[in-house]
Amino acid sequence: MAMTSAPLLSVRNLTTGFATPDGEVRAVNDVSFDIMPGETVGVVGESGSGKSQLFMSIMGLLAGNGRATGSVLYRGKEILGLAAPALNRIRGEKISMIFQDPMTSLNPYLKVSTQMVEVLRLHKGMDRGAARRRAVEMLDLVRIPEASRRLDMYPHEFSGGMRQRVMIAMALLCRPDLLIADEPTTALDVTVQAAILDLMGDLKREFNTSIVLITHDLGVIAGLADRVMVMYGGRVIETGEVRDIFYRPGHPYTQALLNSMPRIDSDTMEDLPTIPGQPPNLQHLPPGCSFHDRCVKRFDRCVAEIPALIPLPGAARSAACHLCQPS
Ligand code: SF4
Repeated sequence: MAMTSAPLLSVRNLTTGFATPDGEVRAVNDVSFDIMPGETVGVVGESGSGKSQLFMSIMGLLAGNGRATGSVLYRGKEILGLAAPALNRIRGEKISMIFQDPMTSLNPYLKVSTQMVEVLRLHKGMDRGAARRRAVEMLDLVRIPEASRRLDMYPHEFSGGMRQRVMIAMALLCRPDLLIADEPTTALDVTVQAAILDLMGDLKREFNTSIVLITHDLGVIAGLADRVMVMYGGRVIETGEVRDIFYRPGHPYTQALLNSMPRIDSDTMEDLPTIPGQPPNLQHLPPGCSFHDRCVKRFDRCVAEIPALIPLPGAARSAACHLCQPS
């Protein structure tokens, strides 16, 4: 992985709230992080942890009742709150986002060729012939057989896994610096999922694209991410290099997530432990540590005080847990 010292994306104190008839729902709470060129960051959390809304905020894709505050610097320039035309130039060309359902990115009524050629004409000013050649190249790269014939098919004529490949090809058409992938393999069966993750690893090496991989499944990021951010209740509760998170997790929630993962070095058929209870209601977060009502290690301080995300000694990682902090 080639890294330079300047971050590609620098997020500071990002907070996102949604106005509802029952008051504000705080989906993202004071989140700060950097993404370096060529780096792959896994963002892990259960549904409702704020992981998707964090990146929808960064991309300016919040619903009408949502509002994000803080700062998002892309290559040193503020992009949070940019007007739509300026943001549209960055989206798709510099930063691309893909989703679990390819049909959120693909128009079902247009041939893939029409959609890909239009993107290249709009963002890169290519003529039709050059744009078509680039589109075939990209379909080849994402390993779609008979790319030049399939380019003229409609999205519904592809299988689920192949449609996901088309969506990745669309997202990478303009060679973005950053690809944000939100649960890109969740709807696919295990074999297709592995093939798509392999493909993303190859593309990252080929283009040195930074990747954010948003997932509820720690297993998905094991082979791809350099660094992991674990989110809970709208906050980052642990972050560090992937091997530290997997082998030396500091936060009880990360430990519980890992314990609930199937292990390839175990041949027992025992049921895996699940994390008791439900993720917190973002409208009524519990006082203190928002994990306290599910945490087997809680003690008095956990209910009274929100733990800050602080660096742990001896490693490039941080955790937000009173057990990891000086009293
Ligand atoms: Fe558990 Fe307390 Fe740490 Fe929260 S702060 S994770 S409740 S031990």
